[in-house]
Amino acid sequence: MSESKAEAILQEALVWDNHACMPLRPHDHSFLPQLERLRSMGFDAVTLNIGFGTQSLKEHLAMLDSFHSWLAQHPDRYLVAYTVSDIDRARQEHKLAVLFDIEGMALLDDGDIEPISELRQRGVGWMLVAYNRNNAAGGGCMDSDSGLTAHGQRILREMERVGMIPCCSHSGHRTARDLMAAAEGPVIFSHSNASAVHDHLRNIPDELIRACAVTGGVVGVNGIGEFLGDGTDYAALLLRHIDHIVQLVGPRHVGLALDYCFDRQELVDYLLAKPELFPNMSDIESAVRMAPPEVLPELVEGMQGLGYDEPAIHSVLGGNWRRVAAQVWKPAAIPA
Ligand SMILES: [Zn+2]
Repeated sequence: MSESKAEAILQEALVWDNHACMPLRPHDHSFLPQLERLRSMGFDAVTLNIGFGTQSLKEHLAMLDSFHSWLAQHPDRYLVAYTVSDIDRARQEHKLAVLFDIEGMALLDDGDIEPISELRQRGVGWMLVAYNRNNAAGGGCMDSDSGLTAHGQRILREMERVGMIPCCSHSGHRTARDLMAAAEGPVIFSHSNASAVHDHLRNIPDELIRACAVTGGVVGVNGIGEFLGDGTDYAALLLRHIDHIVQLVGPRHVGLALDYCFDRQELVDYLLAKPELFPNMSDIESAVRMAPPEVLPELVEGMQGLGYDEPAIHSVLGGNWRRVAAQVWKPAAIPA
C-alpha cells in the first residue's frame, strides 16, 4: 500500500487521540511544546489527562489552570475544544484542539457533585468511574468490585445533565455493566484494549465491548505495551486490538487513545511509588513500552492492508469520538 494514500487519508480525516498524558505538575510547561508532535503527525484533537485516583479536586483544577494558561499563549497552533464545532474549526485552521479528561470520580468522594458542571465548562470532555481501585462511586478493575454506588449514579445523572461523557476504563466490570445499564446515552471505554487479544486486568472482555457498542459508545485502543502484548511493533500490536473490536462490533465503535506519556520518567517514578495500583505489572521496562504518536501513518497503512474502506478508517481515526461528543456534549452548557 502506498504511503501517499495513507497521507491522503490523514489529510481528509478527523484524527483524534482520546487520551494522552502530560506531566501533572502545575505550571511546569516544559513538555507542552511536544503537543506539536501530534499536530505535525496529522492529529486534529487530543484529550489530555488532568488527574486520576488520588489527586484532589483542587489539584485537578490547578492542572486545568496550567494547561489553559499555556494554550492561551499559543493561539496560532492550539485551541481548547468545548464543542464539536471547536474540533471542526481546529481541523480547518490546522490547529490541534485540546480537551481534558479525568481518570476517576474519587475527586468527588466527599459527596459534593457540584464541581462537575465547572469541570465541564472548563473543557473536561469525559470522566471515568474508578482508577483501578474502588472509590465512593464504584469499583476499580484491580479491586473487588461491588458495582456502581448510589453516589456514582448521582454523578452519572449530573454528567448527563451537563454533557460530560461517562467512561468505564480502569473500572471494575460489574461497575461498568451497572453504568452502561443506567446511562441514557453512549458510554465509552476511553482507553481499554481487548482481553481476547491480550489478557490483562486493564483490558476488557468481548461482553463489555458489545455492551459498549449497544450504548452507541466507543472503545479507544491504547498504546501502552503492558496492555498491547509482547513486542515493540506498535502498529501491528494496535492493529490486532483494533481489528478484534472491528470484527466483533464493527468499525463505528473503535477509536484511538494512545495513552502516550510524554514524560517517561514521571511514569517510571509513579509506577515505582505506587506498586499497589499495578499489582500484576510484569516489570518497569515492559510497563513503559508505549506507542508514540508517530505510529499514525503506519496504523493507517495497516488498516488499509486489512481491507478497511475509507469510511471505516475515518471512523476509527476520529469520526467515532466526534459522533459520541456531538451526542453528549451540550454546547448550551458552555459559557460563550
Ligand atoms: Zn489510564
